[in-house]
Amino acid sequence: MASRLPLTLRLAGVRFMSAGGEFGSGAGKGGGAGGSVSQRPEASMDSKQFREVGKQMIDYIADYHDNIRQRSVKHNVSPGYLLPLLPDSAPEDPERWEDIFKDIEKVIMPGVMHWRSPRFHGYFAVGGSYPSILGDMLGDAIGCIGFSWASGPACTELEMVTTDWLGKMMGLPEHFLHSHSGLGGGVIQTTASETVLLCVLAARNRMVARMKETDPDMNHHSVISRFVCYSSDQANSSVHRSGLLADVRMRKLQSDDNFSLRGETLRKAIEEDKAKGLIPFFICATLGTTGCCAFDSIKEIGPLCEKEGIWLHIDAAYAGSAFVCPEYREHLEGVEYAETFSTNPHKWMLCNYDLSVMWIKNREYLVDAFNVDPFYLKHQNEGRVPDFRHWQIPLGRRFRALKLWFVLRCYGVKGIQQYIRTHVSLAEELEALLVKDGRFEMHVPATMALVCFRLKGTNKLSEMLHDHIMARGDIYIIPDYARAQGKGVYFIRVAMVSEYMTSDDIEVTFRAIQRSADCVQERYADLLQTEKNGVKDDYMPLINNDACPADFKK
Ligand code: PLP
Repeated sequence: MASRLPLTLRLAGVRFMSAGGEFGSGAGKGGGAGGSVSQRPEASMDSKQFREVGKQMIDYIADYHDNIRQRSVKHNVSPGYLLPLLPDSAPEDPERWEDIFKDIEKVIMPGVMHWRSPRFHGYFAVGGSYPSILGDMLGDAIGCIGFSWASGPACTELEMVTTDWLGKMMGLPEHFLHSHSGLGGGVIQTTASETVLLCVLAARNRMVARMKETDPDMNHHSVISRFVCYSSDQANSSVHRSGLLADVRMRKLQSDDNFSLRGETLRKAIEEDKAKGLIPFFICATLGTTGCCAFDSIKEIGPLCEKEGIWLHIDAAYAGSAFVCPEYREHLEGVEYAETFSTNPHKWMLCNYDLSVMWIKNREYLVDAFNVDPFYLKHQNEGRVPDFRHWQIPLGRRFRALKLWFVLRCYGVKGIQQYIRTHVSLAEELEALLVKDGRFEMHVPATMALVCFRLKGTNKLSEMLHDHIMARGDIYIIPDYARAQGKGVYFIRVAMVSEYMTSDDIEVTFRAIQRSADCVQERYADLLQTEKNGVKDDYMPLINNDACPADFKK
């Protein structure tokens, strides 16, 4: 029975709950008829209040999205802005929800970067949609921790079904599906970075096990010091970091003029490393690199991996979503050679972070390799269904398949294809506007809804353009830096992010770029002259120094 006291009074004091209901403030510690009263302080919100304020929160979220164009996309705060706005320690007494709610606009929103805004073009698309938010709400409400089938049968089985659905939608080989008679299947991981680390560890383990077959007395610690993994110089920073975390050499191989890693480069690296006594065991190939969305040639890399017994992992964190559209599947040629494949529906498929899917051809490389099986986690159906704790690094896991399920059902394959194709065509619209202007050049042609451009002229000029755009704050974009044809190139990335973006928004973005280009060119005409006079462009990036190859830093 709900208390009839007004909310303010109810929240003024700590009260206690019995198993079957609620006691008012007067109930006292341990009081109440029948005496079976828990000593637990009542949570400050009951279901009645949750219904009320929950609806208010839904309205707030819908209004936030509906009116997001009216907010400045970029926060305008400096480090430490929030500390003076909040007390030094948590409140002793429960606070009124109304007061907490007011602080969202006062304390939080000034420091928010509005990733959902059509003016936000940073990084890559970030997934999000109402069906996905509803999925997270329900997952949080159920609150199960699905480390085993027994701890969450629906959590486990919905993950099997939805990862199979997604694999089929993307045209992945059948051996990656749970419904296939083999040992493969999909699993939802937190991030693509965590997946790479897991795959490096699994591949390291597989190689050690293979070597022990011929030399059972081998000291595996000393042999691991000879292990080497590969990626292209365009791979996401998380790939290099996985090498550091797994304590194995990670060699970055030079990509070609299209920023793609080619089979011949890998072949030479393997040959060189083997001649030095090293043992190649893993490669992460990327389909859709972070910098400019380039595609490694897995049809060339795959057969080499098969021949050399190297674990091929494919990181399609961003661009993988595009394979839902058959016209982009040419990049998948050679995917059958991959041991593992990952993509992030939390990037370009309308699912809120975190939801990264990994498929593996043979789960035994994970399940058997890292199997720690305490008695308290055992259950009667072991072996008949996956216990996903064996397929990941953490023990616990959320019920994330719900949001994937809701998204796939609410949009359908056709809706997702339309979303992807709309983003691709909006990027092409922006590219056409930039080209027509005449002052800009494309770093690479617009690919998979990513536009990479620069001002013609020195790198410094493009850097100033970026800085000017950021200082104005109408749109949010990030720069990147690559080496192309022997030269360091600074370029600006414009990603299509918001689900609600239209051609009008592209026009706004283009005008913002144009306005800043006018100012920069007016103020720094001398830099244009420098380029015309053939003076060396000695630009060096100050922030992302690590991105330039060692020989370029000299
Ligand atoms: N791989 C690629 C190609 C990426 O672009 C990114 C992030 O943008 C990642 C991996 C890292 O993704 P996550 O945040 O899921 O670890």
